[in-house]
Amino acid sequence: MRRSITKFDHRTLLYRCPICHEALELVQASLQCVNRHTFNISAKGLVSLLRGENGNSNLYDRNFFEHRSAVFSAGMYEHVAEAYCDAVRTALSSSHKFSAQTSHEPQEQSSRVVDAGCGEGYYIRRLLSSEEQQHTSQTLSTNLIAIDLSKDAISLAAIGGGDIEWVVSDLARIPLLDHTVDCITNVFSPANYAEFDRILRPSGRLIKIIPGPHHVMELRNAIVKAGLRGDSQYSNQQVLSGINEHMHIVSTTRVSATTAVDSALLKDFMAMTPVMFHINHDDLDLSTIDAITVEADVIVATR
Ligand SMILES: [Zn+2]
Repeated sequence: MRRSITKFDHRTLLYRCPICHEALELVQASLQCVNRHTFNISAKGLVSLLRGENGNSNLYDRNFFEHRSAVFSAGMYEHVAEAYCDAVRTALSSSHKFSAQTSHEPQEQSSRVVDAGCGEGYYIRRLLSSEEQQHTSQTLSTNLIAIDLSKDAISLAAIGGGDIEWVVSDLARIPLLDHTVDCITNVFSPANYAEFDRILRPSGRLIKIIPGPHHVMELRNAIVKAGLRGDSQYSNQQVLSGINEHMHIVSTTRVSATTAVDSALLKDFMAMTPVMFHINHDDLDLSTIDAITVEADVIVATR
């Protein structure tokens, strides 16, 4: 059977039926529960584990993810991707050290990372390629799962998406069994802490990446100048108190880079950034913008 299907086969059960919550097992080219709820795995290596919904939201259509891909290809989020990979590697090694000291159960051979709200998969694909590069050393082999509600995003992501298990699902009902995950990543994307808490192993880590205060300051300044909004800096307070209510923050690392943009790249960038949603581009004076700052806070938290 093809690898795009067999990658969903796990020695210990992982997937959970979105309808009845029983475990799903690989049966031919489908995931199936004891109640015969069946979810087909496509030849591209993606599976939709939604309960009825069609898996698309209006705001995040294929066009939106294509603009994002252009921005990612230009390297504007390169430093964020590097910080992401570093944070996952550190989280997995501390998670394993911790469980080796406290657990009497035999160790699972592979660590498991879930990217919750993966979009077109930029970050988790970067993790896959960095894992592949390091594969000659004795690093743990890692099981990578990527989840997004947008079927368009997942379809785009799954093209050449290798061993990553691509799943269309609602984050309010993550189709994974309890305490099966070592590391959850959640990058510029809404969180569901109750579900994160349910699927994380006791020693698991959450890596949440949010905009830093100077993120896209060039666009925010233009918006303020046009009198459309008052604040030129991002405030993370609400997001931080959301995390603090559910988990314990162990570290925060800020990364920042300013990249030169031409008018085509600026257009791509404006089409993908939530700062520009509901703003008419013609209202802004963009003539002075020749670079954009991408700043992010990488937050690591435990249960
Ligand atoms: Zn079922």
